[in-house]
Formats: sequence, C-alpha cells, structure tokens
Amino acid sequence: MDKNKNVFDNVLQLIGSTPLIKLNRMTTEIDGEFYAKVEAFNPGHSSKDRIALHIIEEAERQGILTPGDTIIETTSGNTGFSIAMVSIIKGYECILAVSSKSSADKIDMLKSMGAKVYVCPAHVNADDPRSYYQVAKRLHEENKGSIYINQYFNQLNIDAHYNSTGPEIWDQTNGEITHLVACSGTGGTISGIAKYLKEQNPNVKIIGVDAYGSVLKKYHETREFDDKEIYPYRIEGLGKNLIPTATDFDVIDKFIKVTDEESAHTAREISNTEGLFVGYTSGAAMQAVKQLSEEGEFKPTDKVVVVFPDHGSRYMSKVYNDKWMEDQGFFDSKNKVHTTIEYVK
Ligand code: PMP
Repeated sequence: MDKNKNVFDNVLQLIGSTPLIKLNRMTTEIDGEFYAKVEAFNPGHSSKDRIALHIIEEAERQGILTPGDTIIETTSGNTGFSIAMVSIIKGYECILAVSSKSSADKIDMLKSMGAKVYVCPAHVNADDPRSYYQVAKRLHEENKGSIYINQYFNQLNIDAHYNSTGPEIWDQTNGEITHLVACSGTGGTISGIAKYLKEQNPNVKIIGVDAYGSVLKKYHETREFDDKEIYPYRIEGLGKNLIPTATDFDVIDKFIKVTDEESAHTAREISNTEGLFVGYTSGAAMQAVKQLSEEGEFKPTDKVVVVFPDHGSRYMSKVYNDKWMEDQGFFDSKNKVHTTIEYVK
C-alpha cells in the first residue's frame, strides 16, 4: 500500500479522512463561514463505514469474531451497506433487519453487497416482535457464532467517531470550529465528534438535528421519554422512537427539529447550488442551519461545520424523484416543480 500514490491493499483502507468542503452559495445571506463534512466520500458512501469497521475490528481484537462467523444488524440502510462491505473483505456472513420505510434502492443495494435482508414493518413499537430490533435479536439468538452490532446501544459507535471524525474536523478547521451541526439517529456521530471537540475546546457549540415525530429533542430538554412525541415521518436515519444509549445527551447543547418537506427541498438545493449530491439528512442538517440563523445563532466570525452523512444516489426514488415529492404534497405554489427535462418527439 502506498497512500501517497493512492494505491491500497483493499477498499477498507479508504474509510475516513473525508473532505471538509466550504459552502459558497447556500450561506451567502447567513453570518459565519460554513463547511460541510462530506461523508459520501467514504467508499460505502456514508459515515457508517467508520462504525462498521471500528466495531468489527474491535470484535476481532477481542477474539469474538473469526472468519465465517455471522454479523447481524438493524439498519435504515447505510450501516447495513457498510457492514456488508466490511464483511465481504473480511469473510463474514451478513444478515440485516431493515425497516420497511427504507427506500427500495437501499434494500437492493444491501442485497447487491451480498447481505441477507429481512424487511420489517416500520410503524410498530420497538418492543413488538415484528420490529427490526426484535427480529435482529431473535436471529442473533438463533445463529450460534453471530454478533449483533446493535448500533443504537453500542458504545463503540461513539468511539468510532471520537477516534476519527472528531479529530479530523478539529484538524481540518485548525481548531477554529465554533459550532457543529449534525443529525442524530443513533447519536453516535454527534456524540463521538462532540466528545472529542469539547475536550479540545469546551466552548464549541454542539447542535443536534431531530425530526418532528421523534422523542430526542424533548428527552434532551426534560430527560423524559414522551411517547406522545412519536408519529410517522419520512426522513430516514434521523430522530428516534426510543432513547439510544449511543447518544451522550450531556455533550449536546441543544436540539432543533426540522420538517420532512423543508429538508427534502433543502437537499435538492444543496445539489443545485453547491454541486454536492447528498442525501435527505444532509438536507435536514442544512435546513437546521437556516433555522438557527433565523434564531440569531451565528456571528460573522463563526466557523460552522455541518455533517453531510451520505450520498444523494440513495434517494433517487424519493427526494430526487419529482413524482415522489408531488405524492408527499411537497410541491405547492411556494415550491414549484423545477425540471430541466425536455422530451423531444
Ligand atoms: N443520516 C443518515 C442518512 C443515517 O443513516 C444516519 C444513521 N441512522 C444518520 C444521519 C444519523 O447518524 P447517527 O446514527 O450517527 O446519529
């Protein structure tokens, strides 16, 4: 392997060290400098490559996993894809229990990476035997020699970002970062980065992005789990109907909620203004930035890092599909369909 010549022993050596890219157009009206941590540059096209590699290699170090063993996980898609990729290189079987809310593209991608996929109903409680948590648990019990990654309740999820994403951002901003804005699902990304950044400078402000229909924001403010906060929403990978232990609520300063509709339009706006083809939650994170600026959060001297977790190609049948947008009622007088396709007859 010669990293300087861009030669590698296998694809896993390309995980991490993702670029920080300045946003030049979307934020011209907003005080501060804004940078995106673009996780789509990982070989599996999302931040989840980092946790898949870290958790699997930790299990190997502890002697829990040996080649031929099975790795099981619940996933909205990205984690599964990354685990499937790591499993191929390292010689493991990969079984994934996914929510029926996941896009058809994502499920096909998991199958293409050699994983066995179980699709479970989205709108059931976490303790329902049909939920993807319970299905994964059952499969783990039934399969001897398997490990269950359990990303929502695995401290190694936080450690992966504490060891890699956090130090990268600190270094890439020369320690000048003032704010981090990141979506919270398992909470591993925001908690790991935040823990590292706060150790360097406790004044860095950490802002989590949550969905309407999720319990995280209210839990952060009251430490109370309120199931009245739970109702269906469309963004995948953001927010939760339970409290993950992979979230360290103490290192997060505040949460802000964003809507499905505004996040979808903002994702399309990022692609069309910055030339960065990113996923739905990247739109959610930038939507949060817009709302925060309206609240007066940023000063002209601030340096803000926004995490863009994955690639737009995973949302061709959703956010980047005009028909889907229309079916959700996301196109109205305010947001007209913008299409540049002309059909020549
Ligand atoms: N965006 C996407 C697309 C995701 O799949 C996830 C993971 N569920 C997140 C954001 C949130 O990351 P984390 O789980 O580390 O909080």
